[in-house]
Amino acid sequence: MCPKSNPPSIHAQAFDCPHCHVYTTQTWFDVFIHKREDNEPPVIPDKAARDRIKKDQKLPQDVKGRYLEWFDQMDTGLVFFNKRKSDYPDFSADNIHLSQCYHCQEISVWVHGNLLFPYQKTGDDPNPDLPTEIRQEFDEARAILRESPRAAAALLRGCIRGLSLPLGGKGIDSGQDAAGLEGKGLEGLAPRLREALDSLRVTGQNALPPGLIDPDDNRDTAVQLLVLLNTIADQIISHPRQVEAIYEQLPKSQKSSSKKKSG
Ligand SMILES: [Zn+2]
Repeated sequence: MCPKSNPPSIHAQAFDCPHCHVYTTQTWFDVFIHKREDNEPPVIPDKAARDRIKKDQKLPQDVKGRYLEWFDQMDTGLVFFNKRKSDYPDFSADNIHLSQCYHCQEISVWVHGNLLFPYQKTGDDPNPDLPTEIRQEFDEARAILRESPRAAAALLRGCIRGLSLPLGGKGIDSGQDAAGLEGKGLEGLAPRLREALDSLRVTGQNALPPGLIDPDDNRDTAVQLLVLLNTIADQIISHPRQVEAIYEQLPKSQKSSSKKKSG
């Protein structure tokens, strides 16, 4: 049975952390503001700034160390707390809140009840048995799905086609070659799955050439492609792998007798 999911909520003191996904207590914070000196834009340290600090002969080692540590934290792209001396803030920033996870200590940013950071990806994680490159593109599609479902759908079609490559197929270069895909890596798929691939224009007569965006695609199409990709990965990678692992654990005598029966 799947464990109950507790999605992040502005009304809850505990939920599935959007960073580490552990269900745990979250500490809530209000935000207070401090106007920057001379209206200087915020500092996002780059390599040049890091080099300047490293080369600065006048800077004491401990100060230099604190700067570099702060640069490292900034480079993670995550939100973090930095204790300051007592400059008392004049204003609060309302309608923006922070929550900090008890388990991973990472901070999430909320505006008017909506979780803004970390950016929530749509759908389930990719099947871990998928090749790395496809997993990365799968995640990229999840990240852009909300803003650009048509681009996500195009990316996912490419992922499904790419699946035939590590399994002995050659993938497809164009719609006309779709039959080649069905005859290769995806040959063992259930008929219903093949029909779904045809209707979502991954394979078949109406298959879209790689990278082409279908103006009729929408969020539903992209989500269906996400689910399909993981289902296909289950069927053609994970399931055979699990069966193979079980077979390898069988005693030798049983393996040879099953070979004789099937042979
Ligand atoms: Zn966490």
